[in-house]
Amino acid sequence: MSPNLDRIRARLRNAICPTCVRYTAAHTCSLVPPRTCSVFKNLDTIVGIVVRTHSRSVEPYAQAVRERVCSACPCEDNHGCCPMRDGIDCALDTYLPIVVNEIEAELDAIRRDSAN
Ligand code: SF4
Ligand code: SF4
Repeated sequence: MSPNLDRIRARLRNAICPTCVRYTAAHTCSLVPPRTCSVFKNLDTIVGIVVRTHSRSVEPYAQAVRERVCSACPCEDNHGCCPMRDGIDCALDTYLPIVVNEIEAELDAIRRDSAN
């Protein structure tokens, strides 16, 4: 069974948005278009990375994010530098361990449901 992106989105909104510097008192995101959240914009790719990566360390996930998400992100320059990452203003980079844990928890729930 494929992971349900709506359920993962809901998990992540609960787990990371309330602690994010971009979360407002009105419970909205303060990012101004055309900028959008790097987590939710790239969720499909991030879920694919978590499905294929198996490690207790966050490093292989971070490496895969650099290769598959950052390399296609308009914020990263030709030298692999990103002012958002350097300024701790990328939710994907800042909250990657939580993002991975939440997606893994959803994958575990799917495995449990399939075993029953
Ligand atoms: S930047 Fe992303 S994680 Fe932060 S409040 Fe906005 S939507 Fe949530
Ligand atoms: S760290 Fe930079 S390049 Fe990578 S997703 Fe975030 S904003 Fe984009």
